[in-house]
Amino acid sequence: MAAIEMRNIVKEYGDGFKAVNDVSLHVADGEFMILVGPSGCGKSTLLRMIVGLEDITSGDMVIGGDRVNDKAPRDRNLSMVFQNYALYPHLTVFENIAFPLRLMKGVGEDEIRRRVTEAASMLELTEHLDRKPANLSGGQRQRVAMGRAIVRNVNAFLFDEPLSNLDAKLRGQMRTEISRMQRRLGTTTVYVTHDQTEAMTLGDRVAVLRRGLLQQVASPRELYEQPVNMFVAGFIGSPPMNFLPAVVAGDRLRLPFLDVGLPDRATGKVTDGQLLIAGMRPDHFEDAGLLDPAKRDRGALFRAKVDVTEWLGDSQYAYIPFEAGEEVTRQLADLAAELDSEALRTQLIVKIDAMSRLRENHEAEFWADTARMHLFDPRTGANLT
Ligand code: ATP
Repeated sequence: MAAIEMRNIVKEYGDGFKAVNDVSLHVADGEFMILVGPSGCGKSTLLRMIVGLEDITSGDMVIGGDRVNDKAPRDRNLSMVFQNYALYPHLTVFENIAFPLRLMKGVGEDEIRRRVTEAASMLELTEHLDRKPANLSGGQRQRVAMGRAIVRNVNAFLFDEPLSNLDAKLRGQMRTEISRMQRRLGTTTVYVTHDQTEAMTLGDRVAVLRRGLLQQVASPRELYEQPVNMFVAGFIGSPPMNFLPAVVAGDRLRLPFLDVGLPDRATGKVTDGQLLIAGMRPDHFEDAGLLDPAKRDRGALFRAKVDVTEWLGDSQYAYIPFEAGEEVTRQLADLAAELDSEALRTQLIVKIDAMSRLRENHEAEFWADTARMHLFDPRTGANLT
């Protein structure tokens, strides 16, 4: 096992395009790190540089204290688990797991048997050692692929979107399985995904990438509660965070539906008349009629007309259109190039109690937990709160 240290890693392709741009990231020994971001953000490229399948343009890749930039993949002692598990269909589970040991010099038959048996027992595959991969479930195949990694005593496991070919149910099961195995083995793990549910549930920490740049590295909870910028705020969470235009008016903040005191955290960082973007998560709203009395002392109430509702069983979403006003709309349009188009939505999505009797095309009273509102600078995207 080993820590993985990436120092100022750059990957530049022929045309000067930087797929990975000055990324520094420390994955501690035994840590489960997720790399997440939209398609093309550079996460696979970064993973491939850890493994050695891609040359590093500049920066240092240090694994277990050794600089490995110039080391061949086989000398890095890592194990990469791909989407399709890369199992040999004609070999039994035993032989699939034993495979890497047979390629190594000086590992005798007794030693191979001992290590495979040990790995199989750890992965609850003992009863299946004589089977072929075709006769295993998706989950068992994944475990065989992990078994192959375990017998080698690798420095780290690397996963590149291993679950993206599976249906939703199996994906959920496999997520739990991978998480359990990683905890049991305590092996340093780097896991690439574009799926934010995987990102939020699997890792100790999550590194969010955008256009080759590292945006934030934090625990899932911190990413959700304290995103450093609008990109992370909008990427993490489903449905995504609502972004509302908010204009500073003295010590007040004017938003669609709401007029609230400027949060203390923003004082001194904004100027009168400035346009900001307020970020509010769908679950920070409630149907005012069903509000927990304990919450009445904080937040703000407002009336709004519901456009569409979606009932989910345990909760429901209400879609509430809003208009930002001419001047704000003009300013937002000017910023459109820098802002994600996501930010320019003109509807609020709120997640409320399943018991709520909201009706489409009718007004209702809502409560907003305004104390948890984030304020972003629309020019830089930075979270000011
Ligand atoms: P996805 O989730 O779609 O796999 P990703 O975040 O893993 O995306 P990468 O595969 O790392 O993204 O690619 C990052 C960027 O580098 C993309 O814009 C891609 O087009 C570009 N890229 C990848 N390989 C090459 C190459 N060989 N030559 C030029 N550009 C490349």
